[in-house]
Amino acid sequence: MPYIKYYDVKNIPGVTCETGIQLNENNLCSYSCKKTLCKCNNLGYNTKHGFFCNKHIKYTFKEDEEIEKIDNKDLLNCKKLPIYQLKKLLKQNNLKQTGNKEDLIIRILINKIDYTI
Ligand SMILES: [Zn+2]
Repeated sequence: MPYIKYYDVKNIPGVTCETGIQLNENNLCSYSCKKTLCKCNNLGYNTKHGFFCNKHIKYTFKEDEEIEKIDNKDLLNCKKLPIYQLKKLLKQNNLKQTGNKEDLIIRILINKIDYTI
């Protein structure tokens, strides 16, 4: 059984394996480094955002479902907040503060953090 982060499969040594995902070999991770423009080319799997490997996946299947449920009104309200405020909210909730503004907003909304002050 392959270890696929997207579907929240638990990584259990001896049961799952990090590499050699038994999927179509043509499904390579489409991530490329912004600095060096190097392609990842690890075996990936199909997500709503393209083909990605465990290392470069942005959102899990569960998170993708939450993204679909995000209210447009919430999104617009959240966009009005400055980046430092968004990062502060994430920090208070022990979440990653990486990514662009859009990433921060989505992370706040899928984790159902109260962003109103
Ligand atoms: Zn990758």
